[in-house]
Formats: sequence, structure tokens, C-alpha cells
Amino acid sequence: MTNDPQECARCGAEIPAERIEALPDTRVCIRCSQEMGGEFDVYAVPERTSKDGSLKKNYGSYSSQKVRKPIRPKE
Ligand SMILES: [Zn+2]
Repeated sequence: MTNDPQECARCGAEIPAERIEALPDTRVCIRCSQEMGGEFDVYAVPERTSKDGSLKKNYGSYSSQKVRKPIRPKE
């Protein structure tokens, strides 16, 4: 495992090691994450247990899906 400093994909600043430890898949620094309103969008995705067209609906369970927001270079 390497310990190369990771750079923010948005502003190029070095991402503190503590942040990477807490969020290993982060690509932006804390400030950019805050400016973007969070690096990820989290959706609740209903898990289908019934087939399409079935009258039986099942709203029982949801799973969450984390989608990385597009990272635009800071202007
Ligand atoms: Zn940044």
C-alpha cells in the first residue's frame, strides 16, 4: 500500500490523510466537498421482490445507492 498524498480532483489541494482514512473513496478535499454540497448523492432504491406488471407491490425494503457527483474543476 502506498501513502502517496492524494490531491483534490477539484482544486488540487492535498487531501488530509485523516479524511482519506475516514472516506477512502473520496476524491475532493473537505472544502470542495462542502462547496459541492457533498461529494455523493445518496438515493434510496426500492428493492423489487415482485415481477414487473405484478399487482402485488412490495415496498418492504430499500437499499441505498451512493452516486458520486460529477467533479467540476474549480473556476
Ligand atoms: Zn479541493
